Amino acid sequence: MTNAEVIALTTKHVANTYGRFPISIVKGLAAEVWDADGRRYLDFTSGLAVCNLGHCHPKVVEAIRAQAGELIHVSNLYHIKPQSELAELLTAHSFADKVFFCNSGAEANEAAIKLARKFFSVKGEERFQVVTMEKSFHGRTLGALAATGQKKFQAGFEPLLEKFTYVPFNDIAAIKGALNAKTAAVMVEPIQGEGGVNVPSDTYLKELKAVCKANGTLLIFDEVQVGMGRTGTLFAYENYGVAPDIMTLAKGLAGGVAIGAMLATDEVASAFTPGTHASTFGGNPLATAAGTAALKVLIEEGVLDNCKKSGAYLVQRLEGLKKAFPFIKEIRGKGLIIGMDLVDGIKGGDIVKDCLARGLLINCVGDKTLRFIPALIVGEKEIDEMIGVLTQSFSSF
Ligand SMILES: *Cc1c(COP(=O)(O)O)cnc(C)c1O
Repeated sequence: MTNAEVIALTTKHVANTYGRFPISIVKGLAAEVWDADGRRYLDFTSGLAVCNLGHCHPKVVEAIRAQAGELIHVSNLYHIKPQSELAELLTAHSFADKVFFCNSGAEANEAAIKLARKFFSVKGEERFQVVTMEKSFHGRTLGALAATGQKKFQAGFEPLLEKFTYVPFNDIAAIKGALNAKTAAVMVEPIQGEGGVNVPSDTYLKELKAVCKANGTLLIFDEVQVGMGRTGTLFAYENYGVAPDIMTLAKGLAGGVAIGAMLATDEVASAFTPGTHASTFGGNPLATAAGTAALKVLIEEGVLDNCKKSGAYLVQRLEGLKKAFPFIKEIRGKGLIIGMDLVDGIKGGDIVKDCLARGLLINCVGDKTLRFIPALIVGEKEIDEMIGVLTQSFSSF
């Protein structure tokens, strides 16, 4: 099928929830993809921070092939070897003791919210409120949507799940004012992704943890986007010297295969007992075999160091562009999640479209923040090519 044929079929039969670009991607390898008409693109979106090892990493492909030939699915009524192995790896490399597996970021956040409420209910404490941040993004299911502090995602779906309140991100005074004896949890992305690549001060998350602890409130980090090496450490919280009580993961966890996970300390996780929460597909053999392979590559093959090095180089090259193009307002980020704010009057979406026509995939969050989230394996070669295309594009505006 050609691009045009896939587009016609999609338009006719697929629910219209995405404003899609007019190409169909049919093949990917590392940081490159190809469309149905055979055109090649340099990919600085990574399936939205999913393909952190690049497209079709050979070790992930091999793990999927091998597992698919053995056992694709079995119920969680039985013990699942690759699930136990992925849980062992995740807990060995994080603050957590236990992992609940599901299939997406939204589901992981639903599990986190349910666990926080259950934790206090088991203790006989009336704590059920959850505080989240303005400009946050936690997913599209009704609980995660209530947690998402952006009206544009909630509009039309009210009434929302009750007992959520929102405070400005990176504002300790605001959080102090919002917590009370009924607050079960504070949920926060260590760095906000969809909300515009918003990086907190070096001390904010540490202070947040202290405020939560003093109030007897659990702290949940949503690392669905910034976990799995994206910021140059395996988990974003490592940059800030503070660990949460609960953490959620998804996007980059299984090298491109659908998966979600909620991690917690033993003390908190013990509130979940048989029958209290479940997922048919959660932690299935195929997804967790892919996850184990992806996590091993991430930890053992220098990917985190490359992310730090390439992230620094990307920021340096983007800062160079800023000197040449006055409509660039600010560049910020960590590792390989970098946002570039444009001044009012220049639409980020127009630049994204223009770059696509020039063979480069980037994306835009909000109206005016270009987001660069390439595979963590990119080097100077890919970054130089990206900067070349971006320079041509910017010159045409
Ligand atoms: C993408 C994202 C989600 C939602 O993940 P889905 O897999 O789309 O449900 C939740 N939280 C954050 C921070 C995200 O970036």
